[in-house]
Amino acid sequence: MCFPPLCDALPMTWAFARRAPWLQAARISSPLASAAAWESMSKKNKPLPDFVDVLIIGAGPHGLAMGSRLVLGNEAMDDVIPPIESYVRRPRDVRAHLQKLRSHGLNLAFVDEGGTWMGRWKNQFAALGISHLRSHEMMHPDAFDHSTLSVWAQSKKRNDFLFLEDLPKNKAYHGPFVLPSHKLMLDFCKALVKLNRLEDHLWHAHAETLRPSGSGVTVTLKTATGTKAVHAKHVVVARGPTWRRQWPAFYNNLEASGLGEIHHAWDLFDQPEKMEHLKGRGVIIGGGLTSAHLCNQLAGRGHIDLLLRRDRRVKQYDLALDWMGYKRWDHRREFEQASIEQRARINKRARDGGSISPELNSVLTDLEAKGQVSVHEWLEVETACYHGAGWTLVLSSGEVMEADYLICATGALVDVATDPLLAGLQEAHPLKMKNGLPVLTENLQWGRLPVYLMGNLAALHLGPDAVNMTGAARGALRIWSALSGCEGCEVS
Ligand SMILES: Cc1cc2nc3c(=O)[nH]c(=O)nc-3n(C[C@H](O)[C@H](O)[C@H](O)COP(=O)(O)OP(=O)(O)OC[C@H]3O[C@@H](n4cnc5c(N)ncnc54)[C@H](O)[C@@H]3O)c2cc1C
Repeated sequence: MCFPPLCDALPMTWAFARRAPWLQAARISSPLASAAAWESMSKKNKPLPDFVDVLIIGAGPHGLAMGSRLVLGNEAMDDVIPPIESYVRRPRDVRAHLQKLRSHGLNLAFVDEGGTWMGRWKNQFAALGISHLRSHEMMHPDAFDHSTLSVWAQSKKRNDFLFLEDLPKNKAYHGPFVLPSHKLMLDFCKALVKLNRLEDHLWHAHAETLRPSGSGVTVTLKTATGTKAVHAKHVVVARGPTWRRQWPAFYNNLEASGLGEIHHAWDLFDQPEKMEHLKGRGVIIGGGLTSAHLCNQLAGRGHIDLLLRRDRRVKQYDLALDWMGYKRWDHRREFEQASIEQRARINKRARDGGSISPELNSVLTDLEAKGQVSVHEWLEVETACYHGAGWTLVLSSGEVMEADYLICATGALVDVATDPLLAGLQEAHPLKMKNGLPVLTENLQWGRLPVYLMGNLAALHLGPDAVNMTGAARGALRIWSALSGCEGCEVS
């Protein structure tokens, strides 16, 4: 049920999509049992199936959002733009939803190279020491309702939220902005996996290639014991942004010794032991959340120079707040009606590159005041040389800087044409590209192939929050619409 004006009306084809026969098996059984150990929530020892209906690559928030949408089917919410003023579904309905252990008969497989649910997410928050999310409590992977996380937290007597009281109150955004703790989000996601009975559907494997075959796709997977081909009727790619690094230009001229020593921030996520070796004077490059968190983590070990290629940008969320305020429907409408070229411009404008939250900015300012960190705006590394004992960096100002370690927190590279998983598809079934991103169908489908993309790869269709939790909810809805047989989609 949806209470106007909070309801974000969907096109009829989405809201009333017909469900494919294999999607009709979701049913409800006993109440939610206590959560099993997180690490055991994957089928590490069970052989991968030869055939599945849907294969989802990635078991992070986006993969989980897709799983939740598939399991809930028509029970899931239609309006994926979070409310800020009130609720959409009644709390008692949400509580009832949280009591239903959903036994479904979906022939569904998730593969993740980390082998666990939310593994990369967990590692990135742990490595950077992030206590609370940047997104608010209405943003999470459950497809039933925006309020599920807060209702769940209440039922568990959890109150580990950060209440931001000092947000500027203006016409565009009035709040509230309540941030869940990292631990709360992980515990909630663990409960969702259990609730949707997804534990037995995850396998530890790395997806290497996709090859259309017959009416489906053959996915080559690398596992601990070798290579395995799985045939899927549909494939959803939910790999997240952090699997591929964006490096500054000087990286291309590094010698072998430098290539062996330089770190991308994301190298530190899955190998936190690498953090232990970072000592002495450090240089960190990047103007986003990751670089600022790294400064906070490493400042006690020696002085850090933080290099920003432009000025320091401070904002609450990683896109303009009015995308979540009263104008959110207008922005969304404008985006939906825009051409691909205009959408690329809207995305760039709304995200506006790396930024840090006001809370993190005050941490950084404290570190500067103590002399532990120096922030340099409009400064880039031109050349870098590693000489055994450390780095010598020549900067765009002409200055020379010495450092014991060098970290690039410079984000993700998105280029489908050179993406190992997707380049083959682009060669055989080319799509129009814009800035390395593919032009998909509105249901995020790769032309007429049964391959669907989530997250930043689908930003030309999902908008500036494609990579975030809200993008996950929107992406899952659109893909589900295609899988459940809406007009123009071919589902067997
Ligand atoms: C420091 C930081 C803080 C953030 N905070 C927020 C926040 O508060 N709110 C928010 O909405 N967003 C936040 N984000 C954005 C965040 O990245 C996304 O919201 C989220 O992690 C993306 O989810 P995902 O499932 O797409 O990616 P991931 O969480 O990265 O999950 C993708 C999974 O795919 C797996 N994988 C990758 N390639 C393959 C392959 N070839 N085969 C098999 N498995 C593969 C990985 O192992 C990984 O587990 C933050 C990002 C960073 C870096």
